[in-house]
Parts: sequence; C-alpha cells; structure tokens
Amino acid sequence: MARILVVEDEPDIQQLLRYNLERDGHQVAVAGTGDDGLHELRRNAYDLVLLDLMLPDRDGLEVCKIIRGDTTLSAVPVIMVTAKGEESDVVLGLGIGADDYVTKPFRIKELLARIRVRLARNGDERESERRRIQVEGLVIDPVRHRVTIDGQVSALTLTEFKLLYALAAKAGVAFGRYDLLDRIGDGETVVTDRTIDVHVRNLRRKIQPYDRLVETVRGVGYRFSEEG
Ligand code: CA
Repeated sequence: MARILVVEDEPDIQQLLRYNLERDGHQVAVAGTGDDGLHELRRNAYDLVLLDLMLPDRDGLEVCKIIRGDTTLSAVPVIMVTAKGEESDVVLGLGIGADDYVTKPFRIKELLARIRVRLARNGDERESERRRIQVEGLVIDPVRHRVTIDGQVSALTLTEFKLLYALAAKAGVAFGRYDLLDRIGDGETVVTDRTIDVHVRNLRRKIQPYDRLVETVRGVGYRFSEEG
C-alpha cells in the first residue's frame, strides 16, 4: 500500500482514479489545483504523485519543476497524466524530472501497473541506500551488486563482489579462507583454500587505491579494515 496524491482538476477523472487506486490498496488524496497539490505535498508524506498536465492555475510541468527543485520533495516519484496531442509537453516533462507519463484516455490497468513498477523501483532505491556500505571513495551497493571507486563503476566478478561484501559487511572481523569460500562459493567449482588468495589478489587490484582496506590476517585469512 502506498500514499498517492492525485493532482487533477476534472471531477470525473478524480473519481475514477480515487476509486481504482483505493481498490488497488492505496491511500489516496486529491488536489484540484497545482498550488493545492504542492501545499498537500509539503504537509504530508506521499509515495507517488499523479500529476495532470493541464491544471487551472499552474501547469503540471511547472508543478513538477517546483517539486524537483525542493529538496524536501524531490525524491517523490511523479507520473504525468496528459491528454493525447500533448506529447511534446510530455517529453519536456521527462526532461524536468517526471518519472513516467500516461496519456488520457488511459487504461486503468496500465496505469496501475506503471504505478506498481514505479513504487517497486523506489523501494529498491531506498533499500539499496539503506544497505550501501561506503568507506571513503569505495561504495558497495549489495542491491545493485555494484561497486564504485571514486564514482567510477568497478568491473568486479560476482565472486569478487561477494567476497568484498562478505568482508566489508563485518569490518574488523577476520575470516578464515574456508569460511570465505563458503560465503562466495557456487557449490560447483572445485576450489582449494588458495583459490581465495587469487580472488583477493584480483579484488585488490580492482579496488585500488582502496586495496589496503582488505587486510591479510596472518595465519587466519582476511578482514576488512575497521578504520576505513
Ligand atoms: Ca486537467
């Protein structure tokens, strides 16, 4: 269930959207003008905005621009709702930060599906933000399986990624080689404990200049530096 704000001036469409969104399990608020919509967005938290392009006071593009320019609002996904023939405005809308658009008359099923996609994507982003590990310029994102070095994506193999994440998720803890193999193994490749050393060597090469964060623990194995 999500909280959705519908900014729309036509009563028929307001009703249609409210009915279907509520039936889909969402909580719905409706604003009839751009200013009311912005006011409502600043007063309450919403997970998504359905924004009509033609509104009585400001047009939807302007409202979208204001949302994106306001740091307290800018994270909320915006789906523009436009009439046929306004496609050039739609392109403009996407340029100023709308996430998606639907064209009236829309099929409600399609609209609901797009809303679900958008909400799921936003959920993933929040999740990846929550689980991200950052040490100086090294950022490990376990949701996207991605590592960036000073903003540049590093081409780690899945095994190297798992190895780095296993270590970094428990910074300061020393892992034995077999323990690490357990955590990264696909269960098929024949490995020896020295396999880990090869992976670590490759990993260190790919995360330079942060390779020093992966420390060798003599007689045990490896650990991720606690100091960062
Ligand atoms: Ca309208």
